[in-house]
Amino acid sequence: MTTERAGIPAKYKWDLSAIYPDEAAFSAEFSETERMIAEYPKHESTMLSRPEALAAALADHYAIDRKMAKLYEYAARNFDVDTSVNSWQAQTAKVINLSSRFMAAAYFVVPYLLKLDAEKLEQWYLACPELQKYRRVIEVELRRKPYVLSDECEKLLAGMSQGLDSHDGIYSILTDCDMQFGKIRDEEGRLVELTDSSYLKFLMSQNRRVRRAAFTKLYRGYEQFGNTIATVLNGFIKEKATLAKLREYESSLFASTFADEVTPEIYNNLIDTVNRNLEVLFDYYDLKREVLGLPKLHMYDAYAPLIADYDRDYTYEEARDEVLEAVKIFGDEYYQTLKAGMTEWGWVDVYPNKGKRGGAYSSGSYDTEPYILLNFNGKFDDMSTLAHEAGHSMHSYFSRKNNEFHLSNYNIFVAEVASTVNELVLATKKLRESENDLEKLSVLNHIMETFKGTLFRQTMFAEFERDIYALVEANEPLTREILCEKYYAIVKKYFGPRVVVDQQISMEWMRIPHFYYNFYVYKYATCISAASSVMKKIAERGDEYIRKYIDFLKCGNSKSPIESLMIAEIDMTRPEVVEDAVSVFADTVKQFREIAGRLGMIKSGKN
Ligand SMILES: [Zn+2]
Repeated sequence: MTTERAGIPAKYKWDLSAIYPDEAAFSAEFSETERMIAEYPKHESTMLSRPEALAAALADHYAIDRKMAKLYEYAARNFDVDTSVNSWQAQTAKVINLSSRFMAAAYFVVPYLLKLDAEKLEQWYLACPELQKYRRVIEVELRRKPYVLSDECEKLLAGMSQGLDSHDGIYSILTDCDMQFGKIRDEEGRLVELTDSSYLKFLMSQNRRVRRAAFTKLYRGYEQFGNTIATVLNGFIKEKATLAKLREYESSLFASTFADEVTPEIYNNLIDTVNRNLEVLFDYYDLKREVLGLPKLHMYDAYAPLIADYDRDYTYEEARDEVLEAVKIFGDEYYQTLKAGMTEWGWVDVYPNKGKRGGAYSSGSYDTEPYILLNFNGKFDDMSTLAHEAGHSMHSYFSRKNNEFHLSNYNIFVAEVASTVNELVLATKKLRESENDLEKLSVLNHIMETFKGTLFRQTMFAEFERDIYALVEANEPLTREILCEKYYAIVKKYFGPRVVVDQQISMEWMRIPHFYYNFYVYKYATCISAASSVMKKIAERGDEYIRKYIDFLKCGNSKSPIESLMIAEIDMTRPEVVEDAVSVFADTVKQFREIAGRLGMIKSGKN
């Protein structure tokens, strides 16, 4: 029975009245924003006439964006804590609608900016300090200039954009709604429905029969639709590749990394470095086989738990205080701000309640607190999630505090660094302090699973993605057979010679929605690598390095993501950064093996 929200004490809930005292204040700001949007088109005729006019057009643009972000925050946070309240759903939709109206009213801004030439702009910056403030955001837009087509072509593409981009929609309707997988027998022998979302739960069962049944049944379901899914994926990639080619990008990979302000070099460095270090992943699978006491590890054993649940419970206050203790190493401003955020400023909405959105996230806008949503359940994972989201919120806090609005949103490429650093800082503290072996194993297991899932698995996906785009760009067809063959070869490489790579896994690409994100997943792996590097430097250099790390958090979008990481001495083009992540993983596997050996948990010593 989930709790009613009204029954939860206020100290565990957001106080959104800090954003607007009441709905009337929200409505008043909404109307004010509408008025500003209605006036915005006046900039069209003047924007390129003089530097002051350009600065004014940009200033108004960001003023409207800033108000809309605050409005959205208020409506969406209210909606997320109780999704049964339709009025908040309607208010959220209203703000989204307002933002599309603004996009229409300000349609001319980007194309006009792209008409400016660099030399003239330099003169304008000199003549107008107000405009100089916007140099970075203008430069980000102007980078795209070589890849922008003629006005007619851009108009044509914009007009067609509704018809484009439909493949991922078809894919998710097919896999979420239309496909059925039937029933399997659970641990108690009861017939239960297998769905793609319950699949992982069965794969994590301690009962091998259940794991194997789920694995076999799920792929029997996918097998029937393999040709359809291959056709949809082929269509998606062809579309992205065609657009990249039309715009004369070197490749689809170049186009996509260019949008993140990074390069294919960084993408390839990740894959190459992980490839050179796969032996440590094979060690992990050996450990898993030995602890499970199996003669051979199969694909359906890959998620079997290494340890039965270690059931230490934390109250929210305990978890919060542990997180606060752990982040003390980041200095006074970090610690005091997070402490006040969690205890006085209502940053965290802690417990699940009826109608509340599931999962966890950090949100917030320039004019609000960096809110954290949790569904706290008292386990180590929940405490780790709090540390993670607090990392996002503190990154946002530093970025917003040290930059004007238009430079305050850090790039997606660095978005998971601060959160992962916090997870690692908490885990390191727990390992250092705990005298209980089972607790230590539980923390080590948490770290191993995080690195396996984030560093290795995402890199495996990134490699597959790169290879299939390359095939399409070489005009090779992406049939079901080719996709299965390529995928199987990559899985075999990542699981190594001592794991049985069951044939069904060749179809796993069919169930990965991320292949419709267009080169997205590598960022998970690069972020955990950067975070590992930060941890290593903190251990070696202490406060002197921590100051640099905090400077990185303060950077916001005032520099490119690569330059901002350089402030923390993280060079994403170098293999060392990825190697730092590999060595955290290797070291964790080693520690787990030592303790498990001492406790007699290693059941079979050889293959
Ligand atoms: Zn995150």
